[in-house]
Amino acid sequence: MAVDQDEGNCKYCIFPETSASVHHNVLSRLDIGLISLDKDDRLIHFNEMVRNVTGIEETEVIGKELNDLVATCGHSASSFFRHLLRTRQCSTQINNVPFKIVAHDGSLKYLSCEYIPCHNEGSTSNGALFLLKDETISTICSNNCIFDDQKTNASHLPFVSFLWKCDDVWSVEYVSDNIVQFGYAPEELVSGGLDYADIVHPDHLEALMDMVDGFNGNYFSHEYMLLTSEGEPRWVLERSYAVRDDVGNITHFHGAVLDIHERKSSEKELASMNLQEKALSKLGGHALSCNDIDALMNYAVKLVAETLGMKFGMIMEKISDDRFLLRYGYGLSEWCVGSAIVDGNSSSQAGFTAVSGKPVILEDIEKETRFKVPHFLHKHGVVSGASVVIGTNNEPFGVLCAHTDEKVHFSDHDINFLQSVSNILAESIGLRETIGSLELYKKLMNQSNDYIMVLDTITKKFSYVSDRVIQDLGYSESELMSQSVFDPECFMKTLDMFEIIRKAADEGTFLVGSEFVRKNGSSFPVEISFSFVENEGKIYMVLIGRDMTEKKKAHQILSESETKLSAIFDNASDLICLSDMDGIILQVNRAMAETMGYQSNELIGVAMVDVTSPEFRADVPKIMAEIIEKGPVTVEVDLLNNNGDTLPMEIKAQVIAYNGKQRILSIGRDITERRVLENAIREHADQLEYSNGIKDMFADVTSHDLIGSVSLIEGFVDYLSSIEENSEKKHILGNIHDSAEKLRRTIHSASVFARMNSSREMELQTIDLRFVFRSSLDRLFDRAVRRNIGVVLNSPEPCPAYMNPIIEEVFFNLMSNAIKYSPDGSEVVVDIFPDGDRWKVSVSDHGPGISDKDRSRIFERFSRADDSGISGKGLGLAISRMALKCHGEELHVEDNAGGKGSTFWFNVRVSDEFDNFQ
Ligand code: ADP
Repeated sequence: MAVDQDEGNCKYCIFPETSASVHHNVLSRLDIGLISLDKDDRLIHFNEMVRNVTGIEETEVIGKELNDLVATCGHSASSFFRHLLRTRQCSTQINNVPFKIVAHDGSLKYLSCEYIPCHNEGSTSNGALFLLKDETISTICSNNCIFDDQKTNASHLPFVSFLWKCDDVWSVEYVSDNIVQFGYAPEELVSGGLDYADIVHPDHLEALMDMVDGFNGNYFSHEYMLLTSEGEPRWVLERSYAVRDDVGNITHFHGAVLDIHERKSSEKELASMNLQEKALSKLGGHALSCNDIDALMNYAVKLVAETLGMKFGMIMEKISDDRFLLRYGYGLSEWCVGSAIVDGNSSSQAGFTAVSGKPVILEDIEKETRFKVPHFLHKHGVVSGASVVIGTNNEPFGVLCAHTDEKVHFSDHDINFLQSVSNILAESIGLRETIGSLELYKKLMNQSNDYIMVLDTITKKFSYVSDRVIQDLGYSESELMSQSVFDPECFMKTLDMFEIIRKAADEGTFLVGSEFVRKNGSSFPVEISFSFVENEGKIYMVLIGRDMTEKKKAHQILSESETKLSAIFDNASDLICLSDMDGIILQVNRAMAETMGYQSNELIGVAMVDVTSPEFRADVPKIMAEIIEKGPVTVEVDLLNNNGDTLPMEIKAQVIAYNGKQRILSIGRDITERRVLENAIREHADQLEYSNGIKDMFADVTSHDLIGSVSLIEGFVDYLSSIEENSEKKHILGNIHDSAEKLRRTIHSASVFARMNSSREMELQTIDLRFVFRSSLDRLFDRAVRRNIGVVLNSPEPCPAYMNPIIEEVFFNLMSNAIKYSPDGSEVVVDIFPDGDRWKVSVSDHGPGISDKDRSRIFERFSRADDSGISGKGLGLAISRMALKCHGEELHVEDNAGGKGSTFWFNVRVSDEFDNFQ
């Protein structure tokens, strides 16, 4: 894996770099210098190390002969090439002594040089290589050239040479002038103003002292940090020799201190790059294998923090245009992870990063002016940090940040690392979304009621079949996948696939009716659509099948019902007519044609208005408008038949959708007979009205005339009885009087009954039932006394009822019957008591009672239970029942609960007008 930088954007790439570029990179980064010559001894290549040491530019020397270079180059370069020539001359001898040059940066370098000639098979020269190694350190440490050199040209030395006294603080007895590179003057140290121990970094002093104290060899090498006069720590390498006195005790150390700070930094950076590469590779692996996005994100924030040596790692997720949520955090307190929110605009580091689209480094929280540092970072003591966008700038997922509680420097590598992590996360989110939507499509396809299949056009086999195919056909997935549509054994009944492919290619989608054969041999009709799709350069055929069993059934039912409907249409006795919205006839049934006296086709195209009787023609447009505006309408109109006769019709008409168009359906019924009947009924009603009037008049006239005649008879009988002496004649006259009285009662009852039958409305008024009772009793008093029958009333006071005065007839009849059918000396009881919003009135006697068989018929006119010798006309109960019926009430009879006899009872409405009776 490698980090490939492209215009400042880092992209995580999993492809290896080409070996040529690796070669180039390796050669240019080598510590070893490389110079190559062609067969004509011309310089064709040298690497970065040579360039750095000598400062030679390619344009000056490439293509030139080595010999010429000695003469033509500037002083330092020409001496360098002279050394190369000398090395070539000596290459047969063993000569490893490094040569000395003043490097490009002015420092002194010791280089060893090796000459490697290249030969072809015939021993002809094929060029040569020079390998150069930097032997500066080993050279100066391994021989006494130091002092030679320092005396000659100290300013060229790459190291500072010292002579220390072996005391507690390492007093400096000699130091070369180039100590100034650390900001000190030689005099400061030699004079004793500063000891060497004073300029060693305090953190490293102890270890250095321990090492020197216990030292008993010839020389040592040690790496530690010095402090410059500015207080800046710098890594140095010290190589020192022990100087002993005559008895072998160490009195001094003399040695060289080389500034290796740059190398150390490079090493550190290399190590951290190494660490980062490893971290990225781990994260990449994790991203591919981990299904849980939360786990991956949490892993990433921890990884980032640990790899960069930060205390905190976090991902701020963009949750809306103007807000970021601290979604994942490492090293942060629980209270803020999942709840801390920062602004989405550039007033927060996250927002600033997302808006700028570039990595943002927070050098020092105290000095930050571009954005506001959120509260939770302050709370954690954050001092510096860096952030990069996750995802695209247009639609970022969020921002990845690494922060810590001390001031740190972020190198380009650190930022690249952060960006690479963010890229892996973004790719992983994208991948997950793709996988998620793929899963969704798969689910949708499997849930579809259609049979979905994908055919690989190269293998001619199915590369996908939806669950529905597997379930409904009874094959396993692999059995289906191994079938080919070109195979006659395929579950899809053999189709002309070549024709289908041609049609689908021409028309985009092609629909064909076919059959699916189940594994068990049964089959069902399907309709299949064929179309092509292209994916990643491959062409697939998509087949979508639909079960047509139900549709076929429905189709059959529909055609059957259409046949039935047309039979109904033709055989209906009603007149059926279909017209357009202008009333032009489109279709009529047989009944209509026959009734109208036409052939069916003669009526087609005729306007409805033309077959309507002139008297109704003006109404036709109005009726049509009403049908269209208000919906179904029923009208009575006269049509005109072929002979010009009118046909009275009741027509129901409405707008219907027929074959996708609006039509008016009219159903007519011949109402000629109904009209005749209606006329007859109307006449009959008139007649009834008339005869009711006659009857009322007759009742009134007859009762008046008859009662008048009866009164006359009674008057004469009374007169004759008063003058008659003969007792026998007197008895006969008494009988005549009784008969006359009976006759009067009968006439009265008959006239009441007749009037009740013809009267339509009852006039109601408030009457106290006790008065009604008393007035009836007055009329019966003599009869009761004659037979020693007591009549008792039980009632509250008062008993206001809302009724017609005719109710007195009911009281009278019931009390009269009770007295009539009671044994002498017995008691008749009348009870009146409230029953809800009505009064219950009952009349009880101790007579013979009414047998069950008689109960239903005694209320009929002229109906009597028995002929026990008690006289009667059988009208009283009929009249009573009729009177109650006119009040909406019934007359009931039951056995007398108080013993032998019967109880007749009825209800009558309570009147609210109590006041009149208080
Ligand atoms: P009638 O004039 O015959 O009494 P009603 O219509 O009043 O005519 O009565 C019809 C018949 O009902 C009577 O003939 C009698 O048989 C029977 N009936 C009426 N009231 C009583 C009663 N209180 N006790 C026994 N029978 C009765």
